[in-house]
Parts: sequence; C-alpha cells; structure tokens
Amino acid sequence: MPRRAQGPNESVDASIAKALVGTFGLTSLRPLQREAMLAGVEGRDALVVLPTGGGKSLCYQLPPLVTGKLTVVVSPLIALMKDQLDGLRLLGYPAAAAHGNLTPAEKRQLWRELQGDSLRLLFVAPERLFLDGFVAQLTSLDVGAFAIDEAHCISQWGHDFRPDYRRLADLRAVFPNVPFQAFTATATPRVREDIVQQLRLHEPEVHVGTFDRPNLTYRVLPRVELVDQVAEAIERHPDAAAIVYCISRKDTEALAESLRKRRIDARAYHAGLDAKERTQVSERFRDERLRVVVATVAFGMGIDRGDVRLVVHAALPKSVEGYQQETGRAGRDGLPSECLLLYSAADAAKWRQIMERSAAESGVAPDVLQAQLALLFEMQRFANRPQCRHSMLSRYFGQDYPHDDCGACDVCLEELESVPAAHVIAQKILSAVVRTGQRYGMRHVLDVLRGSRTQNVVDRGHDAIPTFGLLKDFSASTLASFVDQLIDAGDLVRTDGEYPILQLAPVAREVLSSERQAVLVLPKRALEAAPQRTRRKKGRATAAAAVAVRGDDSTAEMSQELFDHLRAVRRELAHSIGMPPYIVCNDATLEEMAAARPKTTAQLLDVKGMGHKKVESFGARFLAAIAEFGSA
Ligand code: ADP
Ligand code: ZN
Repeated sequence: MPRRAQGPNESVDASIAKALVGTFGLTSLRPLQREAMLAGVEGRDALVVLPTGGGKSLCYQLPPLVTGKLTVVVSPLIALMKDQLDGLRLLGYPAAAAHGNLTPAEKRQLWRELQGDSLRLLFVAPERLFLDGFVAQLTSLDVGAFAIDEAHCISQWGHDFRPDYRRLADLRAVFPNVPFQAFTATATPRVREDIVQQLRLHEPEVHVGTFDRPNLTYRVLPRVELVDQVAEAIERHPDAAAIVYCISRKDTEALAESLRKRRIDARAYHAGLDAKERTQVSERFRDERLRVVVATVAFGMGIDRGDVRLVVHAALPKSVEGYQQETGRAGRDGLPSECLLLYSAADAAKWRQIMERSAAESGVAPDVLQAQLALLFEMQRFANRPQCRHSMLSRYFGQDYPHDDCGACDVCLEELESVPAAHVIAQKILSAVVRTGQRYGMRHVLDVLRGSRTQNVVDRGHDAIPTFGLLKDFSASTLASFVDQLIDAGDLVRTDGEYPILQLAPVAREVLSSERQAVLVLPKRALEAAPQRTRRKKGRATAAAAVAVRGDDSTAEMSQELFDHLRAVRRELAHSIGMPPYIVCNDATLEEMAAARPKTTAQLLDVKGMGHKKVESFGARFLAAIAEFGSA
C-alpha cells in the first residue's frame, strides 16, 4: 500500500510552504508543482510532464523535506546531477550522488550518511544503479520514493531512448511498496503511455503542464547566408548569452571560427573535443566568461544558465522533441528570448543518412530506426508549415493553443517576404533541372543558372542551353534557398545518398504550365529581438526594463544599471565559492532586487529566490552593492 501522510491537505500545504520559504527562499509554486508535491508527500505514483524551466526538480526536491525520508533520484547524466547537487548544498539541503567517480573514501562516507539517515536526496545514474549490488544495499535503507528524471529516455518512441532506462522496471519488483514519480519535459501522448507502462506505475496521477513558453519568440527561416544570419541574430541580443546548434562537429568548428572573425566571442563544443577543452568551454560559458557556444546536441544537458537569450539551430534538429528541449534552454528565467531555426531542405536528407548509417553500425532494431525517421519527418513538417509556431508546438504535445496570433513567431509577425516574380524564377529553376537532364546536384544546376563557366558546365556544353545565366542576379545562397523551397513544396526531388541529384516531381508540371503559381519567400531584414507583446524601447529585453517601460525612462536606466552591477557582484560571489553564477541566484532574482532595492536583510528575504541560507551567505554583499549604488 502506498504510504499516506496523516491529516488533511491543509497541514501538508503548510509543511510544503514552510520548506518552500525556509529552504528554497520561494514564496509561490508554479503550475502543477503543488499537485506533484502532494503526490510525493502522500506517496502516490505520478507522471509529471512540465516544459523545460517549469520547475520539475523542485517537485522531487521538496517532498523529502516534509516526509523526512530519502528519495532516490534517477538521472541520466552525472553533469546534470552535479549541477543540482552544488545548488542544493548552497541551500543547506542534505543531498548526495552515487557515481563511478567517487573515491573509496567518498563511497564509505556516502554510505555512512545514508545509514545515518541524514540525506534526503540521493542522485544516481541508471547504469550505476545496477552495479555491484547497489540495489540490494538500497533495500537496507528506508527509501521513501523514487523520482525518475528525464523519464522519456525509457521509451523507444521518444527522441532520447536509453536502453539502460528499461531496467528501471526491475526496481519496481524490488520495491513494490515504494512510490515512483516520473518526470519529463518532452513527451508526446504516445511516449507518456509508454513511460507509465514501462515503469509499471500503479494508477498514476498524470500531471501535464502547459507546453507553451510565451516568453520565447520562435523563428523558422530559410537558411540563406548562414554566418550573416547567425551573427545578425546574436547582435540582436547585445551582451547576452547564446547557444548555436549544428549537426556535425566540423560545422560547429567552422561556424565558431567565422563568428570569431566577426569579433563575436564564440567557441565550439562537441563530443570529439578532449575532456579538458570541453570542460573549459562549458565552465567558461557557465561562469559568463564566454558569450556564444556553437555546439552539437552534446551541449546543454546540465547547462542550467537561465539567462540564455538566444538559441539558434543552424540546421534542422532531428525531432520536435529535441527542438523543444534545445530551444527550452533559452529564457529559463522567464524573460523574453529568441529561438531561431535556419532551415534547408538538405538537412533532413543529411539526418536520414546519419540515422541509417548509425543504425547499421550499432545494430539497432529496425523499428527504432523507423521511429527516429518518423520523428524527423514531424520536425520537417513543423519547419515547412507556415503556421503559428507556438500553436504547432502545443498541438504536437497534445495541447490546444488558445490564441490566433501569438505575436511571437515568424509566421504571426509576418517576417517572411514573398519574392517578386517568384513564379518565373521557379520556372527557370525547374527548367534548368530539365535541360541538364535531371542528372546533377544542386551545385551544378546553380552554376548553370548563375552563368558560371565551370569546367563541368563547359565540358557538358551546359553554357549553351537557354537557361544558362538566366538567374545571374541572385547569389548562390539565395538560389539554394529557392531550390530548397521548391523541394519543400514538392516540385523538386533531391535523391538521398552521397551524391544527391535534383529531379522534377510530377506536380512540377503545374508550375511549368502556370496552372499553379509558385511562391518563394525570403526573410525580412532587421528582425526585432523581443516578442511584440513585451518589446521594449532599446537594448536588452529584461523584465526590469519591461517594468521600466511603463515607468519613466530614467528609472528604467537606473534599474538596468543596477541589474548589470548586481550581475557583476553575482559573478564575483560565484567566483569566490568556485561555483557558476546561476547557482548563486538567477536573473529574475537579480531583476527583482534591482527593482525593489532592499535595504535590510528582511527586505532581501522577500525577494524571490533569496532563502535564509542564501541571504546568510550572500546577503551582506548584495545589500552593500545596492546601498553603494543608491548613493552613487
Ligand atoms: P526543469 O527541470 O523543469 O527544466 P528546473 O527545475 O531546473 O526546471 O527549474 C527552472 C528554474 O526555475 C530554476 O532556476 C528554479 O530554481 C526555478 N523555480 C522552480 N520552481 C520555482 C518556483 N516555484 N518559484 C520560482 N522559481 C522556481
Ligand atoms: Zn505565432
């Protein structure tokens, strides 16, 4: 039987509130946190699906403080645990992690603490869990609950399937009476069902949060000039942190270098770098000493920096789940941020190749590969459809989106411009493909259209065909984007394989005969950083500034200045304790501080995110900084 706390919910609520303020310095719960915590405190199985930044960790961190029992948190990555652990320790929360890197002495210490019942959270990776009789040792403890983080990893229909997670079901047999709570940020209805089944959850409560992230502006634009577009996006957010995702390691290095040439502080990050360099890049980014990371998807898990203002996908991600997760790293502090996807039809073909190759090499089951390809197809549809991005994302995760115009996506902001004479341009492109015999790749067709007398063009006599040089006024990258759009529209086909060639689809005849008008678009120049709803007058989009837009400008500048100053203080404090700045507190807390300007410890305690322990450790320094500023 699941354990149930004595007494009515009011007293549980009071205990939750006490721990919330006392330990975490927070005064209110986010949507569904209360429900999730009640399940935790009262010992019921639950599946909690909250978007990135929704506050899942708190849902399993808080209940053990109320029940006084140990919760075992299963989490896929050591980096992810370490970050949380550092944060918890600063709060004075008794937590520890069991992982392979512990020294024998640390291991002994850990078990002493566990047996002494002084810990409330124990983090462990699934592969660790099933080593060396670990589970058997756990049975000797009074485990109050299991929390399964990133629970979608258990499903092969998910985007991040990890076979190790499958074994978690075995735990259920060993701990039949201990409640299990599963947490994830990205789960389609199908994956949700799979989690419940695989983990053998007993009549679980299912809490699904709102997926929409209203503070994010989504843009999906044709990739025309990659470096220009990325640099321009970064400059839309002066001084702010950005993550740029690429498909391949090589791409990350090339793009980081091009950005550095434009004096943008960017470094590449991927699994092929040596461990030292990887650590260096992620630590520099974390400590706000590096502005832009150009990375493969290897980067991000465990990067908890809340003030990332921009996430760029330099190419199509391989699933909507991945896209949601990666873009979710923007604006975790709730402040306006941008997610830009630069898309070319070639990306999907590239992914297909990668997936098929890696499936063949690692011998995954054919249905796992099929599941991956299906997720890729959904992502491609998302990128291609000219529909509100907020709405499409919500619906993908099984939710309605109640607004017609989100005011925060490329479609609703009407940021694409139709190209004049698109139809004629499309006809010229299609006809060049036909005239060259439907036997060449994009590069050759573009050479012909742009009138380049390359060796290949001359050798094949293609400088003599009527379409030669017909579109010489367009840059190669603009034409490549047009070709992509014709592929997306279904008029052109690009074959898969190492040397893809362009061919005409049967429906292209409708365009050639003008039965149907072709449409081509290009991104408008000069996009704005923040969504219209929260757009402010100039500079960075921050809540302090957004508040200030309503007030007078001088107050705005003052609190922005104080905010910048407090950020510097936070960096200093973080440095002094050897931790990343966001562990000290997040931007939202600093903005509240900058706006409220507390003078006393008691006033500082009222600022969201400043609990007793943090005020004790950092309060004096912050108060001094605010006081100094006031008299400046
Ligand atoms: P998730 O794991 O769902 O992506 P986190 O648990 O990392 O999200 O929480 C994201 C941020 O929100 C963290 O900085 C956390 O401290 C903060 N947070 C969580 N719950 C609350 C709350 N009730 N009030 C204020 N901040 C919160
Ligand atoms: Zn929209």
